[in-house]
Amino acid sequence: MSDRPQELTVAEQAPASYECRACGYVYEPSKGDGKNDIPAGTPFEELPETWRCPVCGVRRSQFVNIGAKDAPSGFQENLNYGFGVNRLTPNQKNLLIFGALGLFFLFFMSLYGLS
Ligand SMILES: [Zn+2]
Repeated sequence: MSDRPQELTVAEQAPASYECRACGYVYEPSKGDGKNDIPAGTPFEELPETWRCPVCGVRRSQFVNIGAKDAPSGFQENLNYGFGVNRLTPNQKNLLIFGALGLFFLFFMSLYGLS
């Protein structure tokens, strides 16, 4: 159907950060590792085999993938924002919006009735 390549979310595009299981140091690809002359932007997967944790010196195999840092984690957590309105079906939303407008209109007209 579509000849466009599948679009990736921001989280999938961002290179993953890795955390040292020994000391908790986090390797962030966007920062690199100045101590070991690793330029910023180097994915963890492309670090040389000889690379060691700059804090405690353990091997690469001691690092665990903790996913992309600072990347949006998706839309799931937004569902509860806005007083739960996002959980409503489109029909319910329309009812809410136009119902509120209708009530406001009636209220507005009633002010004319008073004067
Ligand atoms: Zn470490």
